[in-house]
Amino acid sequence: MCAFFTTSLLRRKSPVARVLALCARLRSARYPEYMSSTAVAARVLDGVQIAAEIKNEVAAGVQQAKAAGYTPGLAVILVGNVAASEIYVRSKVKTCAELGIHSELHTPPESVSTEELLKLVQQLNARDEIDGILIQLPLPKHVDTELLLEAVDPRKDVDGFHPINAGRLLSGAPDDQLLAPCTPAGILEVLKRSGIPTAGANAVVLGRSNIVGKPVAAMLINASATVTVCHSRTRNLPEITREADILVAAIGRAGFVHRDMVKPGAVIIDVGINRVTGEAELAQFFPPEHPEHTKRHETFARRGSTVIGDVDPSAFAVSSAYTPVPGGVGALTIAMLMSNTLKAAKMRRGK
Ligand code: NDP
Repeated sequence: MCAFFTTSLLRRKSPVARVLALCARLRSARYPEYMSSTAVAARVLDGVQIAAEIKNEVAAGVQQAKAAGYTPGLAVILVGNVAASEIYVRSKVKTCAELGIHSELHTPPESVSTEELLKLVQQLNARDEIDGILIQLPLPKHVDTELLLEAVDPRKDVDGFHPINAGRLLSGAPDDQLLAPCTPAGILEVLKRSGIPTAGANAVVLGRSNIVGKPVAAMLINASATVTVCHSRTRNLPEITREADILVAAIGRAGFVHRDMVKPGAVIIDVGINRVTGEAELAQFFPPEHPEHTKRHETFARRGSTVIGDVDPSAFAVSSAYTPVPGGVGALTIAMLMSNTLKAAKMRRGK
């Protein structure tokens, strides 16, 4: 059936059809597991379900806080009109409402100065009913982002970006006394709640950003993994990734990690969020024999794009467990923000 489909496409004159058919032929050589009846399916680490568990726990904690006389509160600063930031912020505010957390949104215009933003941060620092302050990034180019992030009271730094919190993380402060960055904290929750042991495991982190790569490496060290951090200057990358029991990919390059870079049976944590907008790329990552082929092509037809991570979807078949994109790590980030807001409220009150 598949051979007939590709052959008939190749016979047609359209160059696009020829490219798609050739891609499909190449793909069928890359997906032997999907066609084999003996293949053991890799476990999907369901970020949506784990996020729901965490949100339930936070909602219960918020009720306890209210019974004790305080309501955890989050202030979000959203500058200008960046469409993606507006979507993220809307989702954060909505989740606060669902969990009983007080939230307020501050929306200064694009033209706001660093000094005006500093004043706003200082006002929020001083207000007792505000437990968490989140400055939605990226900020306009003329604003001094570092200065602003450092102006946030470390006790209200629910993004965990303040140097004091970064230092506490590095020095191995206990989890309940630390505001850690949300995405890395979510990754550790996925591993913990999925029963994946970290002690003694070889963990390889691809990416060294302050938001994901470095903090997740520190957390894995704190969890007693043996950690290697890779970046764009790393030599012999595939040799290093093939040693990983736990492979965390956070580089922002669609499908970069190929199956021959993954040790059979490894756990893959795919942090990347990349939009695929080209038909040839879609066909490359989701050929007809890929289990998600139909779903992804339907999404693409509807939205003109689909989202994939930093790992080639064909590589998941080599793993023992993986976080899907979407529905993996991304789902955890807001849940951990809510968790940090409750934690900040309790820590500030010595609870
Ligand atoms: P950054 O762009 O800040 O960092 C990317 C890192 O990847 C850098 O350290 C860079 O190396 C490294 N890198 C880039 N290309 C290569 C390469 N070819 N080989 C090896 N290393 C490479 O990205 P972020 O950390 O902010 O984000 C990474 C990904 O995670 C993105 O797709 C982002 O969208 C996603 N993300 C997802 C979140 C979620 O909620 N799921 C939250 C945050 C991010 P160097 O330092 O040498 O330049």
